[in-house]
Amino acid sequence: TALHTRGAPTAATTTAPALDTNSPLKEIERIKAARELRRKQAELIREARAGKDETDMMVEEFEAKIHQFRHAWMQWVESWKGRRTAQALAEWDAPIQVCVRKRPISKKEAGKKGFDIITTTTAVHPHACAFLHEPKLSLDRSRSIVTHPFHFDKVFDEYAGNDLIFQTTLQPAIPKLKEGKNVSLFCYGATGSGKTHTVFGPEGGRGSATTAADIGLYHYACSQVFGVAAEMGADVFVSFLEIYSGKVVDLLNNRQHINLLEQNGNFIFQGLRESHASSVQHCLQIMAVGTATRTTQATDSNSTSSRSHAIFRLELRVPHTGTTSLLTLIDLAGSERGVDNPSASAAVRREGAAINKSLLALKECIRSLHVNSNYVPFRSNKLTCVLRDCFRAGTCIMVLNVAPTNLTVEQTMSCLHYANRIKEYSHAAGGGS
Ligand code: ADP
Ligand code: MG
Repeated sequence: TALHTRGAPTAATTTAPALDTNSPLKEIERIKAARELRRKQAELIREARAGKDETDMMVEEFEAKIHQFRHAWMQWVESWKGRRTAQALAEWDAPIQVCVRKRPISKKEAGKKGFDIITTTTAVHPHACAFLHEPKLSLDRSRSIVTHPFHFDKVFDEYAGNDLIFQTTLQPAIPKLKEGKNVSLFCYGATGSGKTHTVFGPEGGRGSATTAADIGLYHYACSQVFGVAAEMGADVFVSFLEIYSGKVVDLLNNRQHINLLEQNGNFIFQGLRESHASSVQHCLQIMAVGTATRTTQATDSNSTSSRSHAIFRLELRVPHTGTTSLLTLIDLAGSERGVDNPSASAAVRREGAAINKSLLALKECIRSLHVNSNYVPFRSNKLTCVLRDCFRAGTCIMVLNVAPTNLTVEQTMSCLHYANRIKEYSHAAGGGS
């Protein structure tokens, strides 16, 4: 149609009125017109592609293929009944849940010509899927995508705010604290995938959240826990710690080192400051000190915060009965393997290996929760020692944060596999199915 609007004579317009096939003159005219048409078309394509390099064309081709997949998939999804509603998501409440959250593409990624390779279906189990479209370039330079499907309990697209995440994961679990059960939520994922944004909000709680979609889960959790505590007649104690380089430090007490002591099968955090919070506001004030203490530079994979596990705990204690229950939110260290990065220093690589070990230990603990709940190998690692109470009866929610583009395809793929294995453990044991 673009050609017509440019007024190019077409074979049809030159010959249609009187189809005089016998006239050689007309035939020459027709051939000339066709040649002109071809010339114009080639010019149009040249123009359209001016300023575009090989990468742009490759991106377009991959995007077209992904779009094709989405189009077909969406048509199929349209026919489902149990599609997402916040309510349906909240109602799917299993003792262990593995969820995926895709974050929006960032300006920086768009600038690097990153393109979206994650397709999500925000439905409830068993229809909650995330697809990773792996771009492939073959030897003959032909391009294709290989689509890997992953199933989870809940899947959140890039439009889901922290408010929806809270309402559909933690909020339904919080009443369990009243029964003396523990509730925990882990954010797992590579550096820059949105873990800190999820747990603590923009800039790890130091930035000001302007909308309900930006307020960190810890803030929402505080608001609800005080209601539960009042019903129970419980006192609320806040603690906030970090595991960095194999050491446990207290973020509410000037990064003081904490010793873990085992006594009668229980762990004691020697020297940990547990602040008695009298209200939601008070709790947030206490936390402001802790978030300021956490080292900054959220998205830089060399920053301390991306290489540390941050653990936020709210403990509810009923004075006369001695009942305790614990809510724990964990912003895990970046899952990328520092060991694989050739430019990283030896120290950073060692640290990467230690982080990896701790994440594997975590996976083992979650697995044994389902396979053999009498024995949980939490002693194998500092992280799992600290999180021991999270493995007691209650609800354990894992949120896998993923960045959306091809720029991080390998990391995202390995994270999806990690989370998927945890998902399989829970279902093999009958949890949540
Ligand atoms: P991580 O803690 O996993 O390293 P961050 O939480 O620091 O990652 O997120 C990286 C960047 O992406 C930050 O600038 C953050 O504000 C932004 N971001 C992450 N998730 C979202 C989201 N759901 N919506 C908007 N911005 C987000
Ligand atoms: Mg972070």
